[in-house]
Amino acid sequence: MSKHTAYPELKRVASAMPDPQIIAILDRLTSDDKADRAMFCADRTQALDLPSIGGAYIVAIWLDQPQKLPISRLGNPEMPAGVYLYVGSACGPGGIRARVTRHFRTKKIVHWHIDHMTKAAAALGACALPGAKECEIVSRLALDGSICPAVKGFGSSDCRNCSSHLLFWSP
Ligand SMILES: [Zn+2]
Repeated sequence: MSKHTAYPELKRVASAMPDPQIIAILDRLTSDDKADRAMFCADRTQALDLPSIGGAYIVAIWLDQPQKLPISRLGNPEMPAGVYLYVGSACGPGGIRARVTRHFRTKKIVHWHIDHMTKAAAALGACALPGAKECEIVSRLALDGSICPAVKGFGSSDCRNCSSHLLFWSP
């Protein structure tokens, strides 16, 4: 059985993105000996089926037009249109399920940097990685030559390893 048959959710996430190639890259880069534990979801209903345990997750964000983010600490960055990947960790109550369902909510009070992006997104997809560590996922994604840090300090204020937890995909 091919991996894509095993993961029908993957197809749905890919179909929501402007270029399904990014999901194939995610699939490859998040696959290791724990590969069968990666779970993809394309909307909030699917996210509600994720486990409420800790780990890391990736949110794929498609901006169909450029956005200026009102984050003065980061110099109000101008974000070009395109596909972004945000890597986060879920350690609090509700685990991965709580975090990822929040990212899919369109109405929310902006609390984190990433909320500006998810509110502006034309499409979102997510990949849950139970038990994974966010910085390891960032380094693994950076192995792909088409993925690079988007905005220095974005989502990585408490991180000493990564320059950004928001990555930009430029195929
Ligand atoms: Zn990090």
